[in-house]
Amino acid sequence: HHDAYFLVADWNALAVSGHAPHEIEQYSWAMVIDCLACGVNPKVATLFIQSWVPELTDVHMILASVTPKAWLERLPSYREMVAGLGEQQGASLAMLGAPLMQAADILALRGQVVPAGPEQRAHIEFTREVARRFNHLYGNVFPEPQAHLTRAPRLPGTDGRKMSKSYRNEIRLSDDPERIKKKIMPMVTDPARARRNDPGNPEVCPVFDLHKVFTGEKGREWVVEGCTTAGIGCADCKNHLLERMLPRMEPVSARRREFQQDPGRVKMVLQEGSTQARSIARQTMDEVRQAMKIKY
Ligand code: SF4
Repeated sequence: HHDAYFLVADWNALAVSGHAPHEIEQYSWAMVIDCLACGVNPKVATLFIQSWVPELTDVHMILASVTPKAWLERLPSYREMVAGLGEQQGASLAMLGAPLMQAADILALRGQVVPAGPEQRAHIEFTREVARRFNHLYGNVFPEPQAHLTRAPRLPGTDGRKMSKSYRNEIRLSDDPERIKKKIMPMVTDPARARRNDPGNPEVCPVFDLHKVFTGEKGREWVVEGCTTAGIGCADCKNHLLERMLPRMEPVSARRREFQQDPGRVKMVLQEGSTQARSIARQTMDEVRQAMKIKY
């Protein structure tokens, strides 16, 4: 059992995304509403907005003073980001520092376990290195967090690539059943299964990644058996997925509509959560100042 924290990383969005600043608010509300609709219960979990907890920025500043620039430059996410930028547009300082900002969020709240996708692992390892470096220099303040991979750590888009609005391959929590069906049925599958009689491998199929989220163990065994022996077709497999997926998605979209109509309630959840997160981050900052002998 762990206390759970969910943060809306609006400062990170400002640092790394191509969004115009005025769009961040809209995305922030949508993300929180999605979390609440999916069943994150604010009575037991803390939801908050990064920029509403200024102590996180303090911790970021402190960690920046002990983190070599080269550690950030060698992170694969940064290299990819720079490669994706146009010729004239160099990386900003905030972009380079974004993973450290994430590390500061985790460390300021004394995070012990961080649910992460495979591509986030390098960031968690980096966070551990930063914590070790600080602890080595000034004394034991930060616990080293562990990455935790879930059963389905990767949820690809309908074309098998990373799910992203800019690829237009996303399945939205707001999609109605008809729409979801229209997206699932033509979904990319194991390319080796070109014909109905070709056996396939679920482990390389993005449809099976969705099965890992929505289908129980028995159902998944049925898929593996049917796919690898060409006993079932991909349409059967997708229909099986839809039968499990749609009943799970419907209450989520109903709750989403409910929260959308009650922005006051959502805001209150975030205000309370941010107050809670602040009290912890403030305590951490206090210990940091003590350890560094800059408590004046
Ligand atoms: Fe993918 Fe299912 Fe087709 Fe196998 S049967 S390739 S798991 S869609």
